[in-house]
Amino acid sequence: MEATAEKLKTCSCGHDRKSPLVVRRNKYTFWGNIGLFTGISVKPIHIRYQCVKCNEIFDETTDPGELNKYLM
Ligand SMILES: [Zn+2]
Repeated sequence: MEATAEKLKTCSCGHDRKSPLVVRRNKYTFWGNIGLFTGISVKPIHIRYQCVKCNEIFDETTDPGELNKYLM
């Protein structure tokens, strides 16, 4: 009946994860951090989305498909 899965979460001031005012906070494993340090490609294990306007962390994902996009 409702398509909630398609709807992106938004922060208090109404930005979703695709907004230019939203930054990604990638979280890596311990070894991931070391990889980043040495320039190896690392996939984050967890991404949080934070609005730079209201500073609210309003969304997060651990979806592998999404995480693959942010391979560093
Ligand atoms: Zn906001």
